Amino acid sequence: MSNNRKRKLKLLESQGGKCCYCGEPLDIDEATFDHVIPTAIMKWNALSNLVVACQPCNLGFADEPPKEKILKLSRLAFC
Ligand SMILES: [Zn+2]
Repeated sequence: MSNNRKRKLKLLESQGGKCCYCGEPLDIDEATFDHVIPTAIMKWNALSNLVVACQPCNLGFADEPPKEKILKLSRLAFC
């Protein structure tokens, strides 16, 4: 198993197998990493800065400022 897949599995487990943003059940093969603080602002690849999300959600959130993202996350509160 690749290191990335292991990280995805770990995150997916901690999120109850669901997309962080929409709460839909998420398959490991569809899961994409999303940086809470976008890499454009800070290159931080620690697990604590990563969530897994489905592709439509990840595309929708691409490089939004962290404040917006955190607001949306706290409103949705799935992870
Ligand atoms: Zn989603």
